[in-house]
Amino acid sequence: MADVLIIGAGPVGLFMAALLLQEGVDVQVLEQRSAPEPHSRAIGIHPPALAALAGTGVAGALVAEGVPIRRGVALAGGKCLAQMSFARVSDRFPFILSLPQGRTEALLERRVNELAGGALHRGVRLTRLSDDGARVTVEAVSGRGTLRYTAPLVIAADGVRSTARALQGVAVRAKAYPDSYLMGDFADDTGFGPDAALFLAGAGIVESFPLPGQLRRWVVRLGPGDPTAGGPTADGQGGDSRWLMRCVRERTGLEIDAGTNSMLSSFGVRTRLARRMVTGRVVMIGDAAHEVSPIGGQGMNLGWLDAAALAPIVSAAVRGREVTGVLKTFERTRLRAAARASRQAEINMALGRPLTDGLLAVRNRAIGGVAAVPAVNSLIARRFTMH
Ligand SMILES: Cc1cc2nc3c(=O)[nH]c(=O)nc-3n(C[C@H](O)[C@H](O)[C@H](O)COP(=O)(O)OP(=O)(O)OC[C@H]3O[C@@H](n4cnc5c(N)ncnc54)[C@H](O)[C@@H]3O)c2cc1C
Repeated sequence: MADVLIIGAGPVGLFMAALLLQEGVDVQVLEQRSAPEPHSRAIGIHPPALAALAGTGVAGALVAEGVPIRRGVALAGGKCLAQMSFARVSDRFPFILSLPQGRTEALLERRVNELAGGALHRGVRLTRLSDDGARVTVEAVSGRGTLRYTAPLVIAADGVRSTARALQGVAVRAKAYPDSYLMGDFADDTGFGPDAALFLAGAGIVESFPLPGQLRRWVVRLGPGDPTAGGPTADGQGGDSRWLMRCVRERTGLEIDAGTNSMLSSFGVRTRLARRMVTGRVVMIGDAAHEVSPIGGQGMNLGWLDAAALAPIVSAAVRGREVTGVLKTFERTRLRAAARASRQAEINMALGRPLTDGLLAVRNRAIGGVAAVPAVNSLIARRFTMH
């Protein structure tokens, strides 16, 4: 019996484990995958999350591998409409760090193994949960058959299709959006260097972010006539690199080399916010509790900030302190943060939708005008970086 069982070794479960292990809490992590997930989803790590990650000693390694994005530019018709600097958003991390999620998870997993080799159990899938009020018993299937674990507390970080959430019958508020996107990573010869670039085109926004290894990620808002606009394929992969290349050329005037494509994926957007995060002795964090649109890049960061807020509460509980009141505050604050991130993503998506020429000119003029006011510009930079 461990002090705490964590379900899921995605970025959020791994970070949660590292935080608790270094406080001396005995943690076991159950992960259904026998090997890490190779598909790169999240790339943006925001300053508040970097500050939290620094507490587990992994921020340095992440920063050493990633690309610090210190500036974003918005362009339309080949002209720069607006610029945004992240220089003032944080003294310690005045940038958004770009690093593919697979590398982020690998560095977190390395830290968990340093703190407690053997704490992470791969190839073990949670199937049942029962909470008798004093402890939780978890049943899981693995190559060795059915396994049983017990712990006074379970933290479910098992992602958007959370089994723990379903087993506990926690309702979600779900919302689907009409937006779908095609994204891909390609060799970068744009000359944008470490800047992020947003192209405000009438056919829909094109976003472009630097990646380590002289690569660049392109994200294109698809329109109703686009071939992959029906949403993501069943495995989250899909789309066509030549189509993406064509969209980029038509909307930005830039050429990308389809032959250098190293990742391609299409995705639709929905929001799912759990009605509660705490049920008896089970606490849900990360995507299990709140799925927000990838546009705005806050989902993983939000989950890490859940973990950072929960860690001291769990450490106190393990040491026998009464935490019911602080857990309620935790739940209220984190659900509010998720709702805020979700609203921010809605604004980002609305700004990137296809527009007719007349409306496009009005919108782009408005963006240029607003961004030219220094106080508003720095306020938006702070909102954008989760401050
Ligand atoms: C295209 C795209 C781009 C994105 N970009 C960004 C970005 O730039 N910045 C950002 O912050 N976020 C971004 N996100 C969101 C981010 O990827 C997620 O928020 C993040 O992965 C959530 O982490 P998690 O650990 O909560 O869940 P997950 O990453 O889903 O991990 C859950 C883990 O639990 C395991 N698991 C599931 N069920 C069980 C079970 N029954 N038993 C045992 N293990 C189980 C899974 O195998 C998995 O390893 C993006 C998402 C997408 C789709």
